[in-house]
Amino acid sequence: MPFAVAIHGGAGLIRRSSLTPERQERCLVSLRRITISAAEALEQGASALDVAIGAVVALEDDPLFNAGHGAVLASHGEAELDAAVMEGTHRAAGAVAAARTPRNPVQLAHAVMVHTPHVLLAAEGADALAEELRIPQVDPSYFVVEARREQLQRARASGRFHLDHGGADKDVYGTVGAVACDATGAVAAATSTGGMVNKRPGRVGDTPVIGAGTFAWNDTCAVSGTGHGEPFLRLGVASRVSARMELAGESLATAAEHVIHRELPGVEGQGGLVAVDAQGNLALPFNTAGMFRGWARQGQPPDVAIW
Ligand code: ASP
Repeated sequence: MPFAVAIHGGAGLIRRSSLTPERQERCLVSLRRITISAAEALEQGASALDVAIGAVVALEDDPLFNAGHGAVLASHGEAELDAAVMEGTHRAAGAVAAARTPRNPVQLAHAVMVHTPHVLLAAEGADALAEELRIPQVDPSYFVVEARREQLQRARASGRFHLDHGGADKDVYGTVGAVACDATGAVAAATSTGGMVNKRPGRVGDTPVIGAGTFAWNDTCAVSGTGHGEPFLRLGVASRVSARMELAGESLATAAEHVIHRELPGVEGQGGLVAVDAQGNLALPFNTAGMFRGWARQGQPPDVAIW
């Protein structure tokens, strides 16, 4: 089976005019580095799940993106972190919502999948699991970077709640995710985010909700979404792509394009997704101005793009 991987660093109102060439370059370099290392891991026989999680950990650690260190801030000035993982063979999944202390929320989501009988743990319960399993934790101030404080102040001043890329900001990027298909034809997805700028404390978006922002099943596809989370939740975006493939017999590309360009606008949804099927086909549609993304397939050179 040809392996394949796709990653995203968020979708939104990413204007060419608001990204300096230097910032574009920094972002593309980071996406390329992470895409290449994910492709190398697949080449060496790593599982789709390990590769998807590894790519998301690298994106969480990069303050350019809205996840982990450098996540956007809720209205009370702190980061509340959502993340999920799902593997497509057993359809096992784990997720955390509104977590405040895991250094890498995607690793805690994985721990929920592996070490508990649950799928989704929220807030103090999520942080307590990290403590119990000795998954690296940090003081919540670790997540807060100056650019995010300024972004929150602007959002508060305008009374807005918006996507990382939805405001008038010039220098911040978005939610992160990855999907992979390994040499055995197994697929997996992982997604991680700080959510939306100036969100109400306790607000949970689509990212940690299996079937909305994250989904994987070897029979159909693995999906990681990004965009305004509420419409993704109302539509069940990731599972819609899978259902169209399963029940309507559509290809990955047709199903993914249909959901993003036809169904999501029907609920005034803005965003995009990365998806892979068990044959290593990729789809990366978005209905916003841009989406930070990188992708690689066996035998083809990796590539990255924003618009
Ligand atoms: N989907 C995320 C949320 O609503 C935000 C994003 O993708 O940038 O929490």
